[in-house]
Amino acid sequence: MGKDHILNFRGLSIGKHSYRFPLDDDFFLSKGYEGVLGGDVSVDLILNKQEQLLDLHFSVSGILRVHCDVCLEEMEYPISGEHTLVLKFSSNPRVDEDIIYLGFNEYQIDLESHLYDFCMIHLPMRKVCADSNVRSSCDRDTLKKLAELQGVGATNHPISTINDLINDPQ
Ligand SMILES: [Zn+2]
Repeated sequence: MGKDHILNFRGLSIGKHSYRFPLDDDFFLSKGYEGVLGGDVSVDLILNKQEQLLDLHFSVSGILRVHCDVCLEEMEYPISGEHTLVLKFSSNPRVDEDIIYLGFNEYQIDLESHLYDFCMIHLPMRKVCADSNVRSSCDRDTLKKLAELQGVGATNHPISTINDLINDPQ
């Protein structure tokens, strides 16, 4: 990892510069967040260099592979959004909300954790097939099986009951 997501801004001319960061399965898996099985996301960055600061505008677009919270099938959850960061220089390097203060001698920044956060922020607490790229709703057969496991005939089971079942098969 690492190197791929380092933005080197030494010697850049004033004005706009564009970059692209493709994020793949390896990227998401390396972060070890168990809710995410992989992903295919492209992050386009427009860097606008000004006299005293660097204005970073990110456009995120792609999919994250996750489990549906209802039927547990793997699905592709589409994400897209815009994010900004501002890089300034200071004798007191720090992070203040979306403003990152770098030391005066700094000429690069590792964007890896930022890129990851920009993707994760679009993932809702509850992920269901209806929101995915793959299916318009949960797979009926899968729901049926889960309902049978649970000993009820209907597919309108409360999600918490299924999750309890999965977490504790006893
Ligand atoms: Zn589902």
